[in-house]
Amino acid sequence: MKNKKAVRIITLIAIAAVLAMLLALAFGAFDQSEELTYTQFIERLNGGHISEIHVSGTYEVVIRYTNSKIKNFPSRYDASLNIDNRVSIVEVVEAYNAKVRESNALLPEDERAPLVNLSFNNPSQGAMWTSLLSTLLPLGLAVLLLWIIIRQNNNLNNKAMSFGNNRAVMVRSSKVRFTDVAGAEEEKEELKEIVEFLSNPQKFTQVGARIPKGVLLVGPPGTGKTLFAKAVAGEAGVPFFSISGSDFVELYVGVGASRVRDLFAQAKKCKPCIIFIDEIDAVGRHRGAGLGGGNDEREQTLNQLLVQMDGFDVNDGVVIMAATNRADILDPALMRPGRFDRQIYVNAPDVKGREEILKVHARNKPLAGDIEFHTIAAMTIGFTGADLENLLNEAAILAARANRKVILMEDILEGINKTQMGPQKKSRVVTAVDRRITAYHESGHAILARVLENCDEVQEVSIIPRGQAAGYTLTRPDEDDMHMSKGKLLDLITMMLGGRAAEEIVIQDVTTGASSDIQRATQIARNMVTEWGMSELGCIYLGGDGEVFVGKSWSAHKDVSDEMASRIDHAIQKIINDCYERALSVLKDHRKLMDNMVKALFEKETIFKADVDRLFAEEAADSAL
Ligand code: ADP
Ligand code: MG
Ligand code: ZN
Repeated sequence: MKNKKAVRIITLIAIAAVLAMLLALAFGAFDQSEELTYTQFIERLNGGHISEIHVSGTYEVVIRYTNSKIKNFPSRYDASLNIDNRVSIVEVVEAYNAKVRESNALLPEDERAPLVNLSFNNPSQGAMWTSLLSTLLPLGLAVLLLWIIIRQNNNLNNKAMSFGNNRAVMVRSSKVRFTDVAGAEEEKEELKEIVEFLSNPQKFTQVGARIPKGVLLVGPPGTGKTLFAKAVAGEAGVPFFSISGSDFVELYVGVGASRVRDLFAQAKKCKPCIIFIDEIDAVGRHRGAGLGGGNDEREQTLNQLLVQMDGFDVNDGVVIMAATNRADILDPALMRPGRFDRQIYVNAPDVKGREEILKVHARNKPLAGDIEFHTIAAMTIGFTGADLENLLNEAAILAARANRKVILMEDILEGINKTQMGPQKKSRVVTAVDRRITAYHESGHAILARVLENCDEVQEVSIIPRGQAAGYTLTRPDEDDMHMSKGKLLDLITMMLGGRAAEEIVIQDVTTGASSDIQRATQIARNMVTEWGMSELGCIYLGGDGEVFVGKSWSAHKDVSDEMASRIDHAIQKIINDCYERALSVLKDHRKLMDNMVKALFEKETIFKADVDRLFAEEAADSAL
């Protein structure tokens, strides 16, 4: 607490000093006084131009001219003069005044010249006082100004300028309940325990049970981690301090650590309560990682967090929750017993979970009666809770744009496509040649997807541009599956290369349209070789090349010999080439079908599963003849 104040005061003084200097400079610039040489001074004096002289310091004299408009002499003055000693100036002025008196005696009263008024400051005290005042005044002003600014900022929002204070947002009672979180039943069960502890701690402490101090929610973005934390607070009916990891890491050194201290101090006053640190990876990264000796500030913050977590008793009634989508990069110290000793994995929802999430978010949206959540859930494999919420929102926007009062199934279907690939761009001008190329390219994908055993079903083929793509082929799996087999991956690569293969067969030239297909296919092939042990190189992990976490894996990155690297490249090349050959041969077998599909695409722009089925049925009938 003291420390925090000291930091604040020092910062304040520093800023005030700078302001004061600026102010003093500014004052100086407006000050039009001139500095006289001794000769100039004598000249002015004898010319009768000086009305007042004030000896302000041991070595300084300030001067007011006879025609001057200055009022508050001697704090403001027309000219100044540096002198060697006081005695000489007094003598000079006295001599002048004597001369004036002498000549005045001969003149009538209204023609007499004025005497020069000479005044002194106390040489030791007074001089110091004025000079001190002249520096302190701007300083005082600056501090006052600063204080007002801070006050105002604090009123506007507590965040700005409150250096040490934490930015935790305290929510007295969270309105979120477990019923707002759909799907994730297992996760809910685990968290219910925490709720029970918070609402009835004695029940646990009586039997000597140790309650987890920290709960770490791990899962991909959008899976409802933040929502879960709020729901726990809401169900337990306890205050909820929420702060984001990035709030701890600040420009000012030492601020992160003091924020952590404040946060815990504040929380202890409100127990039982929940502290929720969102995106803890911002502070909780592995210490000693990062280039250039690591980030001291972040490490200090992390250390402080660990100290605070150790600092209070397990059964104090404060539960710390945190969320991250990168548990792998967290410092292991965070996971020790007595810290985040409970980890809950929040996964992307399965079919049933998606259906329930859709129902939760459809509660306040007018949906047409024929909409089946089950169907939508089946079509949205891989969507997280946030994606599903977004999907319903997109659908609602589409309905509103069409001036409808209810959301129809078609809105939702378009919403799915839009969230996956960006909106359709019907107005983009496409030349006839481009259309032909796109049509063959997409037919190539579609035919392979349909023919290859392990590929997902073709849902939609279109030559309407969407997002970056000139056209698209949508496939959707029938069910969620966790594992990808080698056969399935090879079919997938083949299908991805189908667009390029079709171009080569029909147009006898290739275009740049397939670049992202090639990129994705190569990435899969690389993973097959280096991570999944699916090539002739065998089951070795070859470093992978997933996200390189700067610093930590920097040195570890090159643990593959040059010779192995070239073998990896060969293995990748072999997979790609084999798949491409396969794509060419399948498409050559279905050349007639491909032409028919292109015709259909020219006609309708978008064809669906039924159309593809029909084309295949016609082909079968033809060959039976
Ligand atoms: P995370 O913190 O994991 O990135 P959020 O909790 O911020 O995800 O989720 C974002 C939004 O997605 C939530 O506000 C909520 O509307 C929706 N959402 C996510 N998961 C669920 C779920 N299981 N049930 C209902 N809504 C969810
Ligand atoms: Mg979140
Ligand atoms: Zn393609």
